[in-house]
Amino acid sequence: GEASPELPSPPPPFSSDGDGNSVPINLEQGDPTMFEEYWRSIAGDAAVVIPAWQGMSYLSSGAGVCWFMEPKLAEEIVRLHKLVGNARTAGWHIVVGVGSTQLFQAALFALSPPDAGEPINVVSAAPYYSYYPAVVEYLRSGLYRWAGDARAFRGDAPYIEVVCTPNNPDGFLNRAVLREEKGRVINDLAYYWPQYTAITYEADHEIMLFTFSKLTGHAGTRIGWALVKDEDVARKMTKFIELNTIGVSKDSQLRAAKIMGTISDSYEAASPPPVEERFFSYSRCVMAARWRRLRQAVESASSFSLPEFPSPLCRFSGEKSGLHPAFAWLKCEREDAEDCESFLKSLGIRTRGGAHFGADRRYVRVSMLARDEMFDFLIKTILSVG
Ligand code: PMP
Repeated sequence: GEASPELPSPPPPFSSDGDGNSVPINLEQGDPTMFEEYWRSIAGDAAVVIPAWQGMSYLSSGAGVCWFMEPKLAEEIVRLHKLVGNARTAGWHIVVGVGSTQLFQAALFALSPPDAGEPINVVSAAPYYSYYPAVVEYLRSGLYRWAGDARAFRGDAPYIEVVCTPNNPDGFLNRAVLREEKGRVINDLAYYWPQYTAITYEADHEIMLFTFSKLTGHAGTRIGWALVKDEDVARKMTKFIELNTIGVSKDSQLRAAKIMGTISDSYEAASPPPVEERFFSYSRCVMAARWRRLRQAVESASSFSLPEFPSPLCRFSGEKSGLHPAFAWLKCEREDAEDCESFLKSLGIRTRGGAHFGADRRYVRVSMLARDEMFDFLIKTILSVG
């Protein structure tokens, strides 16, 4: 038929999910699917086959505090940290978890005084990762409670400060903002890898959380690890995981170990592959290219702005290196759009608004880790709104 002059505004743009079904452009979660292409290219080398009789026991044969940790995974974790130089492992205990989300809760459990009259305060400098308040609050624990922005925290009650560096959502390199003795610190180093940031120092904090999800993009394997200085804290974290899930899938641990091993191999093998085929070179290039495109698009228009980052010296590459965070902390500069999340939603793009992170609604967090077609759509949209 003929087009009516009163046609409704065009439906929001859609992409295909692979089965031909349309889905809205979702840049709300940090689903790290963009490294899929890399892992496809070396598929055979990083595959694991697990015989039916293997890994049946709850227990593992390792000697460490964490009795369900596969020794092979512990070995590859130490090897990779040594290669990258991003965290100290000698003398630290390793605890494996179902993602670092479980380890965060294990750390809260381990650091909370068991016999205090009041729950301990958990704080983090805003803008903070939106899961911190959600995870701290959802069970209404008697052990700990969410107390908001670390910079606004006053008084002399004991506290746990969560430090995320590079920070989710804004990408900056953070240090603890509270410096008193009554506090304990959990360092969330999910993004402290060369594809996202310069490696500026060898981290040696009391509790350091890492995740396989953001290292390689294998979020579905659900493997995270904590490097823990104090043996008693490591024991309590292990106890939490025992009571929560009686350990962590051996199958997943072996898969993570294998894949991490291929990264280290590609740097340490007698005849290593060409530089651009090594994981950090490849992933760094992809992230840098995306950030270049995003900055160009944002600068060519006036609706949005982005944070500016320093370019510190990277201990891993030996070069000065810009930051290429996993998320863009996009600010809406338009007078007619104070709620940036709603504005982008009206353009067909789902993002997470600033309020979730303890910040202004003019900001949104946009994933930089989605598949190419979704990222391309973001760039096109920014260019088209001007
Ligand atoms: N910490 C930060 C800062 C994150 O961004 C994420 C994932 N979005 C996690 C922890 C949790 O990751 P996982 O549970 O997949 O290990």
